[in-house]
Amino acid sequence: MKILTVVGARPQFIKAAVVSHVLRKKHQEVLVHTGQHFDYNMSQQFFDELSIPAPDYNLGISGGSHGEMTGRMLIELEKVLQKEQPDWVLLYGDTNSTLAAALAAAKLHIPICHVEAGTRTHCRTNPEEINRICTDHVSSLLLGCTDSAMDEMKCEGLADRGLLVGDPMYDAFLEYSGKREVTDIELQLLNGGTAEIPEKYCYLTCHREENTNRDEDLQEIFKAMEQLEFPVIYPVHPRNQARALRVARKMLLTHVILAKPVGYLESACMVKNAQLVITDSGGLQREAFFAGKKCVTLLDFVVWPETMVGNRNVLARPKAEDILEKIAILQEVSADYHPFGDGHAADKIVQAIEAAGK
Ligand code: UDP
Repeated sequence: MKILTVVGARPQFIKAAVVSHVLRKKHQEVLVHTGQHFDYNMSQQFFDELSIPAPDYNLGISGGSHGEMTGRMLIELEKVLQKEQPDWVLLYGDTNSTLAAALAAAKLHIPICHVEAGTRTHCRTNPEEINRICTDHVSSLLLGCTDSAMDEMKCEGLADRGLLVGDPMYDAFLEYSGKREVTDIELQLLNGGTAEIPEKYCYLTCHREENTNRDEDLQEIFKAMEQLEFPVIYPVHPRNQARALRVARKMLLTHVILAKPVGYLESACMVKNAQLVITDSGGLQREAFFAGKKCVTLLDFVVWPETMVGNRNVLARPKAEDILEKIAILQEVSADYHPFGDGHAADKIVQAIEAAGK
């Protein structure tokens, strides 16, 4: 079969890495990169480190408002789909690239397989929630990571198109998280120079609009970080680097190491060795869970309910007091709970497409 995969953002490269390797053993894959993430350490580094095949198309579309970005992608993806005429379009997650590809394929009557289907926050102001809902409803094959995703599909009348396959992020974590040593990682600091990873540290990522569009919220997050027992490593997403650096300088931070984004091998290794993870990322919350680490999630909605069982992952608002209170109630994680599958989601994804046929 000919399967056209659309990726555009960092978490999609990681999922595509594990699935593409299985897919290409038996099928022809056409890989399209929309260009949504384009900096070397948000894109090419992942292709290099994870041996992802070079994209057949790079549309070079990034930036602008949500509508503008999605619209430009829709126009270009429609042309690619018309030219390639694939049997399936394979999509991951919840980005604008996912939504644009879903709309383009659905209007051309090309069946869509959506990986990470059924994930819901029930928060309609969360831009990714709109992308998830719309993509699921126009897809033919909805592949869920967890039981709760399958329940959500049922509630929306999508269950007959749904299948539980597990989480390809878990596959990736099992495969790649042991490939680096913390002592070999050299952080590229945002204000120039490099740094090694301290022996004990907390790992922070924070880039969602909800937390980084206002100085006040970042200030509160940094205020909490300054009071933690261990230094905090913060690889900053390009979308909020300028603001993070400005706020950090104003506050004369001494405890937070602001770095450029690291590659996936480094990030997974850093999760494994961290004392604590603080994040607003859907992927990093799960990785903290996979690694048995305590996590505070800087969001006011739950994305992955499985990670929250027993206070191993707790939500906090971007307020110093709330973050510190939530850190205090975190509980140790028991190792015998595996809601994200068996580490073979990639095989199951390919088998599901094969079973659904042309
Ligand atoms: N990640 C990375 N380098 C970094 C920060 C994060 O490789 O500097 C990885 C992280 O380990 C996780 C993924 O990027 O696998 C999460 O991506 P992101 O936060 O951009 O998206 P989300 O998961 O929120 O959709």
